[in-house]
Amino acid sequence: MRTLTIDLDAIVHNYKTMLAKTTAAVLPVIKANAYGHGMVEVAKALEAAGCGGFAVADVAEGLTLRSAGVTAAVLAWLHDPADDFVAAVANDIDLGVANVAQLRKALAAAEVSGEIAHVHLKIDTGLGRNGSSVDEWPALLEATKAAVATGKVAVIGIFSHLSSTGETEDLRQVERFKAALAVAEDMGIAYEFAHLTASDGSLAYPDAHFGMIRVGIALYGLDPFSSNRAAEYGLRPAMTASATVVQTKRVPAGTGVSYGYQHVTERETTLALVPVGYAEGLPRNASGKAHVIINGKSYPILSRIAMDQFVLDVGDDNVQVGDEVVLFGDPAKGHPSVDDLADAAGTINYEIVTRMGGRFKRVYVGGGK
Ligand SMILES: *Cc1c(COP(=O)(O)O)cnc(C)c1O
Repeated sequence: MRTLTIDLDAIVHNYKTMLAKTTAAVLPVIKANAYGHGMVEVAKALEAAGCGGFAVADVAEGLTLRSAGVTAAVLAWLHDPADDFVAAVANDIDLGVANVAQLRKALAAAEVSGEIAHVHLKIDTGLGRNGSSVDEWPALLEATKAAVATGKVAVIGIFSHLSSTGETEDLRQVERFKAALAVAEDMGIAYEFAHLTASDGSLAYPDAHFGMIRVGIALYGLDPFSSNRAAEYGLRPAMTASATVVQTKRVPAGTGVSYGYQHVTERETTLALVPVGYAEGLPRNASGKAHVIINGKSYPILSRIAMDQFVLDVGDDNVQVGDEVVLFGDPAKGHPSVDDLADAAGTINYEIVTRMGGRFKRVYVGGGK
């Protein structure tokens, strides 16, 4: 009735597309259920394609990957003080470390578990979010140096994240990142990977790839600049949202449709009921602006999107119960793009795919399945 079709071949294709654009390692970012695509399924498809590591936000997400049998490296960087670093270290989850308290906790976890804690030190070069401030950086490095000397902590990476405010601001962050790396090197701290850019920075600044790039949205085949140009980067959208028409009826002119009568029929027409609402993540404020495809033809969602359903005015077209309605998918197949729906809702493609859920069923195609 309601389906999110996830094309794992498209995700593998996008991973390889990004690999081909860099000499650095590519770290797929699969946090938040792989932006709604299914974290475990995406990880397994990429692992089968030779990918050696993943990034998530929380330790809990990393543990979910381990429980599912994912053996590639996993990095988690957003921690609650209550998060279980012992479980993380015991399960070989690399920890993003933003301050001395987190570093001490990683060291303690290594002592308890008897395993080495692998860390990626995070410096805030100007996003104003997670990471050590430039002022605290030398103290974090000192503490790291002492922890490394115990043999219980190993520094795998040093990383930061761009604000994507504009080229001037981003390039200023690149310079601050280089300076932070130089401070670490001067203090004799060895690391394997420096990594700064996400999808947008990786496409925009090929000279700022360092040893690794973290790729989220591009992996799912969407334009990180939200300008509907993913195909120009060689990316293929991986998620198609569809549903079936569950009821049709003829109504006279002047019929008010759905809450608030946002749409009133102009003439005798057919209404088609689609069982997807904001419970599935379809933004209510896309009402009156988004459009969908049935049998290759585009229909605007004129009436208000409700919790469970919306109604289309299909005129005299031969739309039948059981016909497929595509909410978004691959523009190359004539579907509305995720960017189209994002624009209708006043948001970005990231939010659209990540919020898809509710009663949608995920169906996987490709990826060896
Ligand atoms: C989410 C996230 C990414 C991935 O960003 P995309 O724009 O989706 O490629 C990379 N790095 C960090 C720190 C993130 O939080």
